[in-house]
Amino acid sequence: MLSRQVVEELRNRIEIAEVIGRSVTLRRAGRNLLGLCPFHNEKTPSFNVIPDKGIYHCFGCGAGGDVISFVQKTQGLSFMEAVKELAGTVGMVIEDRELSPEEHRRIAAKADLHDVAEAAAKYFEETLMVRPEGLPGREYLKKRGISLDTARKYRMGYTPEGWDRLATFLQRQHIPMELAVRAGVVKRNDRTGSFYDAFRGRITFVIPDEKGKPIAFGGRILPEIEKRDSNPTPKYLNSSESEIYEKSKTLYGLHWARNAIQRNDRVILVEGYFDAVSLWQSGVEEVVATCGTALTPAHLEKIRRLSRKAVALFDSDEAGMRAATKSMELFLDAGVEARRLDLQGAKDPDEYVQKYGGPAFEEALKRAEPLVEMVVRRTVEKEGSSAEGRVRALDSLAPVLRKLPAMLQVQMVGRVAGWLGLREEDVLGRLGERAVASPTTAAPSRWLPSKELSHLLWLVIHYPQQVAPEVMQTEPGWITDREDVLEAIAALCSGNSLPDVVSSMVDGDASTVLRKIAVQPALYEEQHAVGAARQILAKMELPQLDSQIAAIQLQISSPQALGDSSSTLALATKMQTLYARKVALAALSSRRA
Ligand SMILES: [Zn+2]
Repeated sequence: MLSRQVVEELRNRIEIAEVIGRSVTLRRAGRNLLGLCPFHNEKTPSFNVIPDKGIYHCFGCGAGGDVISFVQKTQGLSFMEAVKELAGTVGMVIEDRELSPEEHRRIAAKADLHDVAEAAAKYFEETLMVRPEGLPGREYLKKRGISLDTARKYRMGYTPEGWDRLATFLQRQHIPMELAVRAGVVKRNDRTGSFYDAFRGRITFVIPDEKGKPIAFGGRILPEIEKRDSNPTPKYLNSSESEIYEKSKTLYGLHWARNAIQRNDRVILVEGYFDAVSLWQSGVEEVVATCGTALTPAHLEKIRRLSRKAVALFDSDEAGMRAATKSMELFLDAGVEARRLDLQGAKDPDEYVQKYGGPAFEEALKRAEPLVEMVVRRTVEKEGSSAEGRVRALDSLAPVLRKLPAMLQVQMVGRVAGWLGLREEDVLGRLGERAVASPTTAAPSRWLPSKELSHLLWLVIHYPQQVAPEVMQTEPGWITDREDVLEAIAALCSGNSLPDVVSSMVDGDASTVLRKIAVQPALYEEQHAVGAARQILAKMELPQLDSQIAAIQLQISSPQALGDSSSTLALATKMQTLYARKVALAALSSRRA
């Protein structure tokens, strides 16, 4: 396990402004740096980096955290992966727990397979770009309107006809054929024991992992070879799964699209390699492709880390409809809002942008229909308006409608009722009363601290050493009744760093408030910090004193106290002390700092 000290040391050694500055243009604004938020679309910068506190905060969308969370969010990494990534840049070695020999072997094997895939990618690329035998590939791309720059960006390649060109190339690089087979680029003829290339006479697409390392390939056969071939070969071919490639977890193009997905806060899902590449070439960069596999929850998990909005461009035939219905449930489960675009005038997105260009595609995107609406509408249309048809439609829609979030459900029940000519009560009745969520679900409350508490938090964040003695003398309940905030105050006062404290808080509200306060311009000079803290704490204590005094007054005037002079005396003394304290506090809290 990773110790807190290691993480803290990493934060100290990493310059947060430098890391964020690589992907966001930052300019200085007082103590802070300011830029356009990479997590939401904005024209005026509201994204703040506070280098001396090691955190960032966006006033536009509330995104924020430390340098590790920034790397996690922008690169789609887990905490541990982000830590390792950052550690690598400053030469820190992060020791995992001891690996077993078996785990060491597996890691080494994966590294080997990555090397093989990289070597194959280079061979395909070089063939396409510079070798004479790459000419048919270059001509084909030209015909399809793909520029060599685009091909280079996407690491496209070409593999000529012939049985073992890649195999021979890899052998010359001293790569064992057994590894090449496991990486899925070479196959073994079990009868003769010889090796042959998995991809022949095809344009190749590198399928990278999230860091950009090749893990598999896709290949499109050249049309002239396809026609000539006596044994029909599939138009598209994909690497088989391997130790480094899992289809259900891989989306083609995610590595290149990540920044654009976050910038534009949406992902465009297409089916084919050429769709993705062509869209990118025409300026629509937030695009990923499923490439022959159905959408999986793992795919959506990757998308959700980057954006909650998706536009899917699936085929509009019967199979496409079934896929849409299936994927809609996945989208609902993942909490990703999905729309569907039916492109008119082209058979796929590739053809569409080649014909009409990127701006026309952007325009078409505005017509995208919520996926739920489309599925519901199409089901109603398909089943027809006969009495039996309506029952069938309602039956097949019920499971879908039950899954919808409350507001959407109410809306869709209304529509379905309208389309089917039924009363809303009947549709609701079919769903079962329990299934229908109340539309008045309260939004999560936004916590806002009082002005005093905000100022106190600012002081604790900026001058923890100076104000800690004052704060620690104060009864915690007087400061706030929020346990998480009290814990944060205690942690800051005992010397923990702000990023450490913020990252260990669970509640979004409270950690957002802390970050916002940290970004505020200097409220107090250092020499006034202690005085200001005393004054604020006094203000917080005053109402407590008042209620204590009131309680004692009650006790003194009670019949029991009247008959007991010694206890009356004790109460009176206590009252006197409280009054004295109140006078002192009142004087303190009204003084201008
Ligand atoms: Zn933002």
